Amino acid sequence: MVIMQEDMNYTITTLASHSCLQILKGAKDEGFATCAIATSDKTAFYGNFKFIDEIIQIETYSRFYSLEEKLKAKNAIVVPHGSFVAYLGEGGDEKISLPYFGNKKVLKIEGDRVLQHEWLRKAKLNLPKAYSQIEEVDKPVIVKLYGAKGGSGYFTAVNKKQLTEKLKKFHFQDKKYFIQEYIIGVPVYLQYFYSPLQQKVELMGIDRRYETNVDGLGRLPSDIQLNYPLEPSYTVIGNFPIVLRESLLPKAYQMADKVVASSKKIIPPKGLIGPFCLETIITPNQEFYCIEISCRIVAGTNLYINGSPYTDLYYGQPMSTGRRIAKEIREAITQRRLDEILD
Ligand code: AMP
Ligand code: AMP
Repeated sequence: MVIMQEDMNYTITTLASHSCLQILKGAKDEGFATCAIATSDKTAFYGNFKFIDEIIQIETYSRFYSLEEKLKAKNAIVVPHGSFVAYLGEGGDEKISLPYFGNKKVLKIEGDRVLQHEWLRKAKLNLPKAYSQIEEVDKPVIVKLYGAKGGSGYFTAVNKKQLTEKLKKFHFQDKKYFIQEYIIGVPVYLQYFYSPLQQKVELMGIDRRYETNVDGLGRLPSDIQLNYPLEPSYTVIGNFPIVLRESLLPKAYQMADKVVASSKKIIPPKGLIGPFCLETIITPNQEFYCIEISCRIVAGTNLYINGSPYTDLYYGQPMSTGRRIAKEIREAITQRRLDEILD
C-alpha cells in the first residue's frame, strides 16, 4: 500500500465496537484525527466522546468496503480489532484496500486452529496436547469448533466415551472441530506489543476473562449442579486485571520473543506486527500452557486505557495498547518507515 509519507494528516479509523474507544482515544492522544464507523444503533453512544472527530454511519458493518473511497480521501489508516473478524467474516480483513495496521498474512494462520497450533509448536511453546483422532484421547479434553470466537461453540469431556457421546449430542460430527487436552490451572491472558521499529516486545498488561455461564456455575451448591443439566459455556462478558508473580515475568517475555521470532520465519519477512495476546493456563507447578494466540488488539486491553502496572514501567505517561499503536504509527511516519508496519 503506497501512502505519501510526507503527509502527516492521517486519520485513524476503526469499527465502532470492541476496543474502538481505546484505539481512538490513543490516536487522539498521539495527535491524529479520528473516525469511527458505526451502525445506526451505535452512533448516539459513540457521539459522547470528544476524541472521536467524526462518526460515519453505515447500514451494516459488512458494507465497510463501500466507504473505502471516502476514507481514502481522509488518508485513513485502519486499525483492526476483534469485531473485524466477527462482522466482516473470515478473510474480511484481506479485502480491505486501505492502509491497514498489522500483517494480514498472520491472520490466516491465526484463524486456522491447526496452522496456529503448528506455529506455536515451532515456537517451542508449551502446548496442551492436540488430538487428531478420537481414539487417541486419553485425558479430559475441550472441544472447539473452528471459527468459534469468544468461547461459544466449546464443550468439555472427561474421557473418550463422553467425548463420543457429546460430539453426537451437539451435532459436532458434521462440523470442523479441534480436540485439545483440558489443562487444570488458572487462565492468564498476556497482552503484548511487538514494535517492528524498535524490534522489541513489550508486555502491555494481563487479564483474565469473566465468562458466562462457566463463572456462574461455581456459585451453585454441588447438589444442584449435579441435578441441573447444564453444559458450561465460555461467552465473554468482561475482563479482570491480573498482575503476575514477578518471578513468572521472565517466562512471559521469553514466550513472546519466541513467538515473534518464529512468526518472522513462518511469514517472512515481517511476521507479527503490533499487539498480540497469548492465552495461557498456568498450572500449580507454574508452567504456562498456551491455548491460543490472538494477533491483534484484544478487548482485555480495555482495562488499561489509562496504562497498566507494566506499561508504567516503560513510559512516563499513561500508555494503552491503543495509544501504543498510534505511537508506532507516528514514529513510523517520522522515520519514513510506514511500510514496515502497514499492510
Ligand atoms: P462485540 O463488539 O462485543 O460484538 O465483539 C466483537 C467480537 O469480539 C466478538 O467475537 C466477541 O466475542 C469478541 N469480544 C468482545 N469483547 C471481548 C472480550 N472482552 N474478550 C474477548 N473477546 C471479546
Ligand atoms: P479461548 O476461546 O481459547 O480463549 O477459550 C475460552 C475458555 O476456554 C477460556 O476460559 C479458557 O480458559 C478455556 N480453555 C480453552 N482451552 C482450554 C484448555 N486447553 N484447557 C483448559 N481450559 C481451556
